[in-house]
Amino acid sequence: MAKTIVALATPLGRSGIGVIRLSGTDSLSLTQEIVADDFNPHPRVAHLKQLRDPRTNGVIDEALITYFKTPHSFTGEDIVEISCHGSPVLLRQVLDLCLRLGARMAEAGEFSLRALANGRMNLAEAEAIRDLIDAQTTASARQAVRQLRGEFSSQLQPIKDDLLDVIVVLESAIEFVEDDLPEFQTESLKTRLAGIRDEVGKIASTFQAGKLIREGLKVALVGRPNVGKSSLFNALLGSDRAIVTEIAGTTRDQIHEKFTIDNIPISLMDTAGLRETADTVESIGVERSRTAMADADLVIVIIDGSEEFMSEDREILASVLGLNHLIVINKTDKISAIRIKDLSRDLNSAFHTPHSAIAKVSAKTGAGLPELQLAIVRPFAPHDISNSGFLVTDARHFDLLRRAKDGVDSSLLLLEQKTSEEIVLVGLHNALRYLGQITGETTTEDMLTRIFSTFCIGK
Ligand code: GDP
Repeated sequence: MAKTIVALATPLGRSGIGVIRLSGTDSLSLTQEIVADDFNPHPRVAHLKQLRDPRTNGVIDEALITYFKTPHSFTGEDIVEISCHGSPVLLRQVLDLCLRLGARMAEAGEFSLRALANGRMNLAEAEAIRDLIDAQTTASARQAVRQLRGEFSSQLQPIKDDLLDVIVVLESAIEFVEDDLPEFQTESLKTRLAGIRDEVGKIASTFQAGKLIREGLKVALVGRPNVGKSSLFNALLGSDRAIVTEIAGTTRDQIHEKFTIDNIPISLMDTAGLRETADTVESIGVERSRTAMADADLVIVIIDGSEEFMSEDREILASVLGLNHLIVINKTDKISAIRIKDLSRDLNSAFHTPHSAIAKVSAKTGAGLPELQLAIVRPFAPHDISNSGFLVTDARHFDLLRRAKDGVDSSLLLLEQKTSEEIVLVGLHNALRYLGQITGETTTEDMLTRIFSTFCIGK
């Protein structure tokens, strides 16, 4: 029998309350040992009780305790939740007591793993809880809730049923049919397989938007010193985080901040002035910013519109031509509309950067910032994706969907080539297994361990 586990379910730190959660057969008896008086709780009812250290009998805290009787709990096992006052010292003390009385510290995701093992939820739903906790935007939280409520699983179920039906027909053909399957039946199987392939493909294709909502974009700001990188960085962030200075070359290192545009998390990197330098500290920064550029989904090159276009600007632009990039003409508050237009035209003809990828802003006045924000996300998300339907957000799910689709596709081809049923079936069985791995029916032990290691402790 699985040992009773314990963990702090809330973050460690000072707070109003901190919740300690126990799961397993000994949860209740163990709690009874640390509750001062008789404790025979009604399930799912909060009881206000004094906690005491059984060795000294000293009162530790007054806590609200809720008992969830098996199987009606998150894990399906007996669960006790102890809501103490949120003092880290106190919570440590209660945790230590539970450990001393025989509980074991839960591993990352172990509560969810037990819920899965006891059939309380499937793997995709357990992963949704992790994603909900990790969500960086409301759109990504909304997607996780949809997955948690079984939307993904219920989209997959009819596809799996259909696939299983086709498999059954082919398997029985091997067993019972002497000759080849009649033509009309093969035709109907082909139509069904093409339908399954397209359905799986349709779900998989939502991953592009799903990944964007979940992981967002890495954007690097580059440009020669003093063009206004730090100022633009702050303007985009809406606060004064990076140091702005008149002296060229003072942004020594990268600064990394997060914000959102249209519900897409953006990780913005202000890089050190990109120029050759003898100063070692600065040259380390320069090297790092080159790496950051290569790693970014989008590189924003800033040009100072109020100054002449310099060879340094040209070099920087030349170095990003192979990368996804956007040019920003900054300091438009200092220059005329005609000058902005001329500069934009020159950049377009010299670097073949389309006009849609040349933004004009003033980091100082904020002019052009909304347009710049849209120019950053639109190439990746042509429409506002925050209100789209269900999206696949997990790379593991996407990979399995892709493999399932390939499996069905190859079987379909073999069927068209009139290959024997045994061979056609291989791809279909694989596809069914891949689809099953999404919800966990066909997931191996070590895969589960790997997946649940990405969960936080206490979940
Ligand atoms: P960095 O070296 O590229 O990070 O440039 P900074 O952000 O430190 O800016 C250099 C100087 O240009 C500072 O004096 C800023 O106040 C000024 N600056 C930045 N953006 C603008 C702008 O849009 N308009 C004007 N007039 N000045 C700006």
